[in-house]
Amino acid sequence: MDLKILPIENPKPLIANENDLVFGQQFTDRMLVMEYDSGRGWHSARIQPYGPFQLDPAAMVLHYSQEIFEGLKAFRRPDGKIAMFRPQDNVARFNRSARRMCMPEVDEKFFLDSLLELIRLEERWIPHNEGTSLYIRPTMIATEPMLGVRPANRYLCYIILSPVGAYYKGGIAPVKIWISDFYVRAAEGGTGEAKTGGNYAASLYAAKQAAENGYDQVLWLDAKEKRFVEEVGSMNMLFLYDGKIVTSPLHGTVLDGITRRSVLTLVKELGYEVEERALSVDEVMEGAKSGRLEEAFGAGTAVVISPVGSFCYKDTCVDLGDGKPGKLTMQLYNQLTAIQYGRQPDKHGWVTLL
Ligand SMILES: *Cc1c(COP(=O)(O)O)cnc(C)c1O
Repeated sequence: MDLKILPIENPKPLIANENDLVFGQQFTDRMLVMEYDSGRGWHSARIQPYGPFQLDPAAMVLHYSQEIFEGLKAFRRPDGKIAMFRPQDNVARFNRSARRMCMPEVDEKFFLDSLLELIRLEERWIPHNEGTSLYIRPTMIATEPMLGVRPANRYLCYIILSPVGAYYKGGIAPVKIWISDFYVRAAEGGTGEAKTGGNYAASLYAAKQAAENGYDQVLWLDAKEKRFVEEVGSMNMLFLYDGKIVTSPLHGTVLDGITRRSVLTLVKELGYEVEERALSVDEVMEGAKSGRLEEAFGAGTAVVISPVGSFCYKDTCVDLGDGKPGKLTMQLYNQLTAIQYGRQPDKHGWVTLL
């Protein structure tokens, strides 16, 4: 398949002050689009001006949520080079999500090459300051107009780009986490390990309640026993417990995060033992009180690393340590961002330079 590049007519002005960039609210001039019809496969790949799609009101995605997405970033380094972090892993996960949702897979090499081409064309949109980046959102939706529950025969796949400011403006700040003992995000056998829109729609109600009560994030427990901690909204959770790194295993309900994977590699190199095991909410609450749980943090592309300041479960809240980000948490944040921005050598082969 060829990639067509269509001209843009009115390039938008950049945001004058990079500190004013709000996550996910500004988009660049171009987007990548390709279409799929069963029988024909993927076709009509093109980079075209950013703008609205025409969608039939019966488009199946609008009724049955056959949708998947990804999230990754491109960074502008101090030497001017553009770097991406493990983009092959995102494309591979996009296809795993596609399989789970009965959607067509993309050709990984073509998709990644096209993505890199889009970023080259949109390079001026990549902000300069430390901590800023260009957020990349590949998406696939079922567009066939049909009322009836079955996999669609027609799809649209697109990639949009959004320049984003530093996540932590006033320094890295610990979050207050509410552990939900009622609502669940994903059950075994469900779609928790796919990055599909419905998972996030299903999480909104609990997240809204959490926000109304002054919490930053919901930590989900397993759906069966409501006993083991799994992950938060768009981050995997890792714990420094009894001197070891503990995180939920990937058994279908937890998203296989690329940041999680990278952190596990880094902590092993730092000499920590890693336990991918079910960690109970009692261990978390008791551990925070007794000090066996020294640190806890979320890991995901958008925030990189997010330290936890306190956990609240039922009627009890416990603070972790002195309420400041933990030492290992900060070390991992610094190490990951150093690899992304090129301050530390990329000895794992995680970085793709444009
Ligand atoms: C995207 C996401 C993550 C983090 O994955 P990364 O690849 O590290 O960005 C974790 N949990 C959920 C539910 C997610 O959607």
